[in-house]
Amino acid sequence: MWKWPRCPKRDYAPVPWEECLKCRNLECHKKCFPWELRKSIYEDLLAWKPVLGTYHVTELTRICQAFYNRTRDYAATFDHALDLHIGKAFHEYLQKGFEPWVEIPVWRDFGQFRVIGYIDACSLDEDLLIDFKVYSSLYYIMTKYEGHASPDHEFQVRAYYTLALNMNDQIDKGDLLTIRRAFLTPDLAFWQPKHLIVWYFAKRRPNRKRGHIEFDRLTRCQKCLVEPRLIMPEIYERAKKLHTALLTGHPPSRLTCPDWLCAFCPHWEICLKRGEKDNFKPWKMWEGEIFGRKVVLENIPDEVADRLAKERGLKWWRRC
Ligand code: SF4
Ligand code: SF4
Repeated sequence: MWKWPRCPKRDYAPVPWEECLKCRNLECHKKCFPWELRKSIYEDLLAWKPVLGTYHVTELTRICQAFYNRTRDYAATFDHALDLHIGKAFHEYLQKGFEPWVEIPVWRDFGQFRVIGYIDACSLDEDLLIDFKVYSSLYYIMTKYEGHASPDHEFQVRAYYTLALNMNDQIDKGDLLTIRRAFLTPDLAFWQPKHLIVWYFAKRRPNRKRGHIEFDRLTRCQKCLVEPRLIMPEIYERAKKLHTALLTGHPPSRLTCPDWLCAFCPHWEICLKRGEKDNFKPWKMWEGEIFGRKVVLENIPDEVADRLAKERGLKWWRRC
């Protein structure tokens, strides 16, 4: 859990939330959040009670980070939370037009564990299943993935699709009472999505100096169609990795997280740092270097790393 905000008044030393909440709006540092927002973040944190054996689809796109989120208390700046909250607010705004077909839960019980996901929005008229994403810019989507959805987002939207199409034997009355918005799920038995979309929005235009992006008047929204595929074995395998890691206490491979994520991750110090004197800082590194650090720490031979780099869409990498 995010237990300690880093305080700009104390040179970013961690302070407990209880102490931070004693600091009202006139007293707090000019870089801090309003008291009301800090309070609601803290309440959300207290309400978050992850259950061993229940895993969210989003956790399966970043298994190593999910492991640390569930097992570690950590310190982070408010910056860490801001993108998440801006994304959340914009999601709610976008979803209004799709009501009531928003935040539809889908799940699968695999025996030892269960996987659950919430579909952002469906359009029953057009047979669409949609996942919205809000980013700083679409630079990576337009360059690295050439206007297609990233592999982790493809996994995510296909996982929702797979779970949705296999709901018939999963619904029992107990689930309908305990899972948030589960009253919507039985209707999926009468409707099948045919098209999957990851719909990206960016908070700012790409930096013109970075070149090779095709500029026109619309550079902040990109609709990416994803080929519908059933991926139940992959969902199972990913959930099993997380489950086993939590049972044994051994972190899963660092390669189970996308490399770009490390630059924003509150666990980078225990996950990627090699001793006190190491000055590796993921937000200052290229993705190929972050991948290279993972290759070193996971002890992966070059030929395997070359293949993995290709699968991750990396044009180059180097051991770091
Ligand atoms: S609100 Fe800001 S200045 Fe006040 S204790 Fe919290 S982090 Fe420090
Ligand atoms: S530093 Fe990277 S690999 Fe490690 S937990 Fe964070 S996102 Fe995952």
